[in-house]
Amino acid sequence: MTAVPKSDHVPSPELIIHPAEASARRQQVAGSLVSFYEYSSRKPRAEQPETEVVLENVSLAERTTLRVGGPARFFAEPETSEGVASAFRFAQTRSIEIKVLGGGSNLLVGDGPHDALVLSLRKMRDFHYLKSSEGKYLISADAGASLPGVVASGVKLGSTELASFAGIPGTVGGAIRMNAGSPVTGFGKFVESIVCVDRTTGEFLSISHDDAGFGYRTSNLGSLIVLGATLSIDGGSRDEARELYKDHLRRKSIAQPLTAKSAGCIFRNPEGASAGKLVEASGLKGRCRGGAEVSSKHANFIINRGGATYEDVSALIEEIREVVSRLHGVNLSLEIQVWKS
Ligand SMILES: Cc1cc2nc3c(=O)[nH]c(=O)nc-3n(C[C@H](O)[C@H](O)[C@H](O)COP(=O)(O)OP(=O)(O)OC[C@H]3O[C@@H](n4cnc5c(N)ncnc54)[C@H](O)[C@@H]3O)c2cc1C
Repeated sequence: MTAVPKSDHVPSPELIIHPAEASARRQQVAGSLVSFYEYSSRKPRAEQPETEVVLENVSLAERTTLRVGGPARFFAEPETSEGVASAFRFAQTRSIEIKVLGGGSNLLVGDGPHDALVLSLRKMRDFHYLKSSEGKYLISADAGASLPGVVASGVKLGSTELASFAGIPGTVGGAIRMNAGSPVTGFGKFVESIVCVDRTTGEFLSISHDDAGFGYRTSNLGSLIVLGATLSIDGGSRDEARELYKDHLRRKSIAQPLTAKSAGCIFRNPEGASAGKLVEASGLKGRCRGGAEVSSKHANFIINRGGATYEDVSALIEEIREVVSRLHGVNLSLEIQVWKS
């Protein structure tokens, strides 16, 4: 198989294989990173020594959509499976914690230095299609594949369900870890199987959909790093999917500050309620701390209006929690992931 050209992700006939063959290939994912990438046939094997892969003191702010955060002591953005293995060896031999970064679109990162190896998978971002059966397509995607890219391609295949993910940034790995949600469904619904590496033991595993424990903005992947996944999507009318995509994007851009620097929704919706409506009803829209501001478009978003720090955003979060608790008796819990330094 060859990778789908970036300019047109519609599957070409040579990319389409029978489901039984796809299943057999997945069975071959027996336990090594290299075997995963051999299975996926997408990455040339190349030497990437530690010294080339691991950089020091790299800013994380510019790698998050909120644009907040200090430097990572060590940072790796490998382009090959060999590079990932090198980064792992580097961290393991020095007993350094590994933190994994996707698109940084659901993250609040501390201002100080992070004594960790931050592993970004964004340069390992290929995806392609496997055989359609009963109107379905299988997408084999690297963890660093762009979620908007996969969604746009799914829409070309006529996936009305993927169309509902219009406007959600990030990567496939982040969407799986967070079980990113559209107004229609959670991303975990599309996941057939996931190839992971355990960041503590270095073991490689293939996880089925049922074992991933997808729930509301959660999975039970814990210390596992997603390297890639096989997704199963509905195929259908391309025109219908395109219209739905446009409609979801239009609604989202009316309701949410999509062009501002933010990390998406800050709080999880409490059972039977909307966190954004509670914050709005507490009169907190437009409230500022330093460079951080509660969006006046959607009260569950905090935007960086320029120069916001981790302290600004954290102080605003605490103020929101205190006011909502006092006025509505509801304790809001965080949806965003926080990396303290
Ligand atoms: C404007 C805007 C709109 C948004 N709208 C939505 C929405 O409608 N619905 C929704 O659910 N979210 C939304 N989000 C939040 C965000 O886009 C999603 O949660 C997205 O799935 C996060 O993916 P990411 O790659 O950016 O993850 P990151 O932010 O990089 O990481 C998030 C968490 O996942 C972990 N992670 C990342 N990659 C991997 C991996 N390969 N293996 C294991 N763990 C990993 C990180 O360590 C971190 O704990 C929005 C964000 C923005 C800025």
